[in-house]
Amino acid sequence: MCNNFNKKFIDEAAKALNDQNDEVSNEDTGYMDQATAIAIKGVIQNEGGPFGCVIVKDGEIIGRGNNKVTSTNDPTAHAEIIAIREACKHLDSFQLEGCIIYTNCEPCPMCLGAIYWARPEKVYYGCNKTDAAKIGFDDNFIYQELNLELSKRKIPFEQLNREEALKAFKTWKEKEDKIEY
Ligand SMILES: [Zn+2]
Repeated sequence: MCNNFNKKFIDEAAKALNDQNDEVSNEDTGYMDQATAIAIKGVIQNEGGPFGCVIVKDGEIIGRGNNKVTSTNDPTAHAEIIAIREACKHLDSFQLEGCIIYTNCEPCPMCLGAIYWARPEKVYYGCNKTDAAKIGFDDNFIYQELNLELSKRKIPFEQLNREEALKAFKTWKEKEDKIEY
């Protein structure tokens, strides 16, 4: 009797836990599937690469984006960047506080940087960068470049006229009514 009661209790607790997990999982999976659907639509409409992204805050999608590099001649028109811009516009803020990003592929270094600047709460990704490399989107070389001396990179970086450039920093430092971020 006691065992039966315990079993019933454990079964019910397990079921409740499963339901809860399913609910969270289904919701997240649903947003990820929307990111994938946006990516597929973009490919079919010849807008760019197979990448899509949605940004969610409090259960509402506030930003969407799919890759539009080739259709807009904009090398920065990645899904995440477009979605971040839309979400920030919606929030009237330069921070994605409390937001979750769903992107159908692990972000490239540019989008990774943008995500860190935007400071969302979490990122879910679908495919990984190895999957992307297999279809010709290999951003591994950019990660490799990060470890090289600036002058040894494929695109050489050379310092020039630091004294003059520092004047902008001095202006910022001395400005009293600046919006810090
Ligand atoms: Zn990117």
